[in-house]
Amino acid sequence: MSLDKYDRLKRIPNWKQETLANAKVAVFGCGALGNEVLKNLALLGVGHIWVIDYDTIEIHNLTRSVLFREADVGRHKAEAVAERVKELNPDTQVYPIIGKLEYAFGRGLLREMNVAFGCLDSVGARREINKRCYFAGVPWVDGGINHQLGNVAVFDPRVPEAACYRCQMDSSAWERLNERFSCGYLKDDFKDSIMATTIMTSAVVAAYQVEAAVQLLLWEESHLKSGTSLLLPVSHPIGFRVVKFTLDPECPDHASIPKVGQTHALPVKFERTPKQVAQELDLCDDWQLELPFDFVSKFVCQNCGYVEPVKKPVKEVKQGATKCPQCDNLNREAVKYFRLTADSEDADLSFKDFSLVDRELLSYINSEKQKIHIEIIQDFQATKINQ
Ligand SMILES: [Zn+2]
Ligand SMILES: [Zn+2]
Repeated sequence: MSLDKYDRLKRIPNWKQETLANAKVAVFGCGALGNEVLKNLALLGVGHIWVIDYDTIEIHNLTRSVLFREADVGRHKAEAVAERVKELNPDTQVYPIIGKLEYAFGRGLLREMNVAFGCLDSVGARREINKRCYFAGVPWVDGGINHQLGNVAVFDPRVPEAACYRCQMDSSAWERLNERFSCGYLKDDFKDSIMATTIMTSAVVAAYQVEAAVQLLLWEESHLKSGTSLLLPVSHPIGFRVVKFTLDPECPDHASIPKVGQTHALPVKFERTPKQVAQELDLCDDWQLELPFDFVSKFVCQNCGYVEPVKKPVKEVKQGATKCPQCDNLNREAVKYFRLTADSEDADLSFKDFSLVDRELLSYINSEKQKIHIEIIQDFQATKINQ
């Protein structure tokens, strides 16, 4: 009997178990798909897995989540799966993160990943993963499911001539994305629609997601090409189909792909302010700082003059908050921006005050319109940055 548990894998031509053992992957979403993806990654001996989810386990998750138990109901999904992955394979390191991907997983950490998985069921979440992965230069494998079929798509910023998720968004995708917002703010009473699905669909889709990712890890490219989607019928055996998406030459996510040799980021402490760091970088007073999201600084009531600080990403502000608590004016004006400028009063806030996550990457734009990247870091001692 062989003592090496990976013996049968190593018999596959060109299989490099070491590469998998050293790989870093991020799994966004620990629902039906995330469970299956994680089970596969653990059994394959993938070495370092970050799992990101803000949700807790509900009883109905148990019919399609191999890593959850009845006693887990009410626990955070990310924590429960981390425990079970460790049981499945003690060789695997798992790092659970509880939170939404845009506020919980910094792009500085993301760019250390070899591949990321989209295991979430909304257009908005996919759009966000795509935006962040293209900015960080990391390929991601998306999975989608319903009760009778699924799809798997590969989006790789290292292949810029191929379409990304943002490129292929049509008007119905934008409609679904905007469903949860009203005038840019979060609807007060929005509920996500509930997807009917079975373990059969999620198992098939997750298997193809991990297959494509393993090919990317071991051989740099997958047979399922970047910018294409594999349609997987599950309930009706009618054959597979691959759809190729069309590149959008105006795509902003494509425009954010890091250029070779331009990925250096200056590590900056959370307690510093944008103005201090701009001075340190010797920038002239016309600098701009690009945030990862539109940020609401304050509400100003034109009716009664009441000024209320907000300091939140616009997507986290509920529509009800636009009402003035002093005079009931329903349409207070928001002071919001995506690029902070030197003359803004917020330039003296600390990076901590901007709802930014540890290891987030930000870009200053200087007078010559060049970008200078910084990475904000909570704990310099504990963070080893690969540059
Ligand atoms: Zn694109
Ligand atoms: Zn007012």
